[in-house]
Amino acid sequence: MLDVCLLGTGGMMPLPDRWLTSLLIRVNGRMILIDCGEGTQIPIKMVEWGFKAIDAILFTHYHADHIGGLPGLLLTLGNSGREEPLTLIGPPGLKKAVEGLTVISPELPYNLRLIELGNNESREICVSNFYIRHISVEHNLPCVAYCIELKRQGKFDVERARALDIPVSYWNRLQKGEIIRLEDRSISPEMVLSDR
Ligand SMILES: [Zn+2]
Repeated sequence: MLDVCLLGTGGMMPLPDRWLTSLLIRVNGRMILIDCGEGTQIPIKMVEWGFKAIDAILFTHYHADHIGGLPGLLLTLGNSGREEPLTLIGPPGLKKAVEGLTVISPELPYNLRLIELGNNESREICVSNFYIRHISVEHNLPCVAYCIELKRQGKFDVERARALDIPVSYWNRLQKGEIIRLEDRSISPEMVLSDR
């Protein structure tokens, strides 16, 4: 089941009943956020899907009403107990924008994995069970639109799971696309699911 929540659809300035641009997508308990305008934490809190399971934040472009909420959200993800890396994806300029904004949210308890998309580049990026592609769109600075697909789940490979010493009690969660932590190891579904 795919849940999509338009957290905010406003522009320029957050209003009491209309938040800035942000969209949350949830599948099997894992989430992707697209854009993060100022105050995005508030509608995320209101929708009650939690913060910890956000695996990636995708940016369409770097105007403040699409990215101004990033530093606060990164800190909240840290406070939610996140330790797994967080993927940030966006058009050219991502590194510079994130470096600037994280001056006020340093020392996060997890790593940021930045994927800066090239101009006219076509590739598919996989995060959790989300397959992400993009195209360039017109705006007065680099801007992209995203396409997110869910692929049919692979077959659970029992032998691989045994070889990796994964207890049976975790198999179902991996099969549903969840990343699990085993002591100091992080096991992702791709490690135990084979193509059908
Ligand atoms: Zn804009």
